[in-house]
Amino acid sequence: MTHTVIGGGLAGLTAALELARSGAKVRLIEQHHELGGRAMTTVKDGFSLNLGPHALYLNGATHRTLTEWGILPSGTRPILKAGSYMVTGGVKHPMVRDVASLATCGFLSVLEKIEAGRMLTKLTGGAVGIGAGLTIAQWLDREVSSVAVRRFAETLIRVSTYCDASEQSAEAALQQIHMATGGVMYLDGGWQSMVRSLADYARSLSVTIETGTQAKAMEPNTILTGIPPEVEQLSGKKLPKLTPIRLAALDLALDRLPEDAAIFGLGLDEPLYYSLHSRWAKLGPDGGAVVHVGKYMGSRVSDAAAERAQLEHFADLLMPGWRKHVHYARFLPEMHVTHAVMGLDGRPDVDALGIPGVRIAGDWVGPEGMLADAAVASGRRAAQSIQREA
Ligand SMILES: Cc1cc2nc3c(=O)[nH]c(=O)nc-3n(C[C@H](O)[C@H](O)[C@H](O)COP(=O)(O)OP(=O)(O)OC[C@H]3O[C@@H](n4cnc5c(N)ncnc54)[C@H](O)[C@@H]3O)c2cc1C
Repeated sequence: MTHTVIGGGLAGLTAALELARSGAKVRLIEQHHELGGRAMTTVKDGFSLNLGPHALYLNGATHRTLTEWGILPSGTRPILKAGSYMVTGGVKHPMVRDVASLATCGFLSVLEKIEAGRMLTKLTGGAVGIGAGLTIAQWLDREVSSVAVRRFAETLIRVSTYCDASEQSAEAALQQIHMATGGVMYLDGGWQSMVRSLADYARSLSVTIETGTQAKAMEPNTILTGIPPEVEQLSGKKLPKLTPIRLAALDLALDRLPEDAAIFGLGLDEPLYYSLHSRWAKLGPDGGAVVHVGKYMGSRVSDAAAERAQLEHFADLLMPGWRKHVHYARFLPEMHVTHAVMGLDGRPDVDALGIPGVRIAGDWVGPEGMLADAAVASGRRAAQSIQREA
C-alpha cells in the first residue's frame, strides 16, 4: 500500500518521513517547484532570506525531531546582551531578559518593577494548569494592574507565540513562553537548510517526491497538509472556524551593516520585532548583513503602506543609516504565521475530517506546540494515526 502526502512544507515532509521510517511506501506531492512552503528561503546574490523572521525553538518538537533523526542543520543560539533593546515612545532601553535585569530597567517605576518581577516569574515558570480556562486577555486582566507591566508581558507573549490575539488560550501561551525560555537557534543558510535535510533524508528512504504537481482529488491513505480552505475543498468536509495569525515582514539584505546597528529589538508600545539574524547565522557574503523586521498583526489584516512605513521607521531607530546599504529589500505585508490561533477550544486533531484513511497535519492541527513545532508534531501524529488504522 502506498501512502500519499499532499504538501511539501514541514508538516508534509515530517509526515512522509515518519511513515517511511517505519517501512511504508510514500509519495509526496508539492504544487510548487520548490519544497518548503512557508519554511522556504530565498537566495539572492549570496544572501539567504527566510520568509520573515524564523527561529527554531531549542525545546520544541522540530528541534527534537531533527536531533532524533540525526539531521539537525548547523546554526547558532543568539545571546541577547549588549545591543538588544526594548523600545517605547521612540526610546531604546536595554532588553529586560530576566528578573535580575529588571533592577536597572528604565521604563518601569519601582512599584512596576516589583509587579513585573512577579509577572515574569509566572510567565516563564511553566507551572502546570496556570491560566487554564482563560484567554490570555482574561488572564492579564486578572494578574496585572499596571499598563506598563501589561505592555511588557504582552511583548514577551508576542515574541514567544508570534500571536497578538486576545482570544489565545492563556494556558497554551504560558506553556509556549516556558518552552521558549530554552532559547532559539538561527540556521546557517536559513530554514531551507532544514527543508533540504528533511528532503534528502526522505529521498534516502525512497520517498517519491513530485514537485510542480497540484493534487486536485483525494485518494485513500492520504495525509493533507495544505491550508484549511484547501483541505475543505479536497475533502468535501467542513472544518470548525479557524482564525489565522498574520505578520507583516520587512526582510533586508545589506551590503554593509551600519556601525551603530542593534542586534535585537522589541516594541513595547507597538507590536514590532527587529533582529540581525546574520550576527548569529551564516546568511550572506562576508561584510554583508541580513536583518528581519516584523509587525505582529494578530488576526488583523494589513494596511500595507502604513505597516511598511512603521517597519522602516523602527529600522531607522535600531539601525540608523541602513537605507544607504540596502542590496535587496522585500516587504511581505501579510504572511500567515499560523492558520489557527490556539484558542480555548483547541485546534482540530489529525482525524478531525472523520474520513477513514485520511488525516490532516499543519501548524493549525493537533494539541502540541505552536508554529513550526505544531506542523512537525502533527505531521508525526498524523502518520502514526493513519498507520494504526491500516
Ligand atoms: C513570517 C513567518 C515567520 C515565522 N517564524 C517562525 C518561527 O520563528 N518559528 C517557528 O517555529 N515557526 C515560524 N513560522 C511558522 C512556520 O514557518 C510554519 O508554521 C511552518 O512552516 C508551516 O508548515 P506547514 O507544512 O504546516 O505549512 P506550509 O509551509 O504552508 O506547507 C504546506 C504546503 O502544501 C502545499 N500544498 C497545499 N495544497 C496543495 C495541493 N493541493 N497540492 C500540492 N501541494 C499543496 C503548499 O504549496 C505548501 O508548500 C513563521 C511563519 C511565517 C510566515
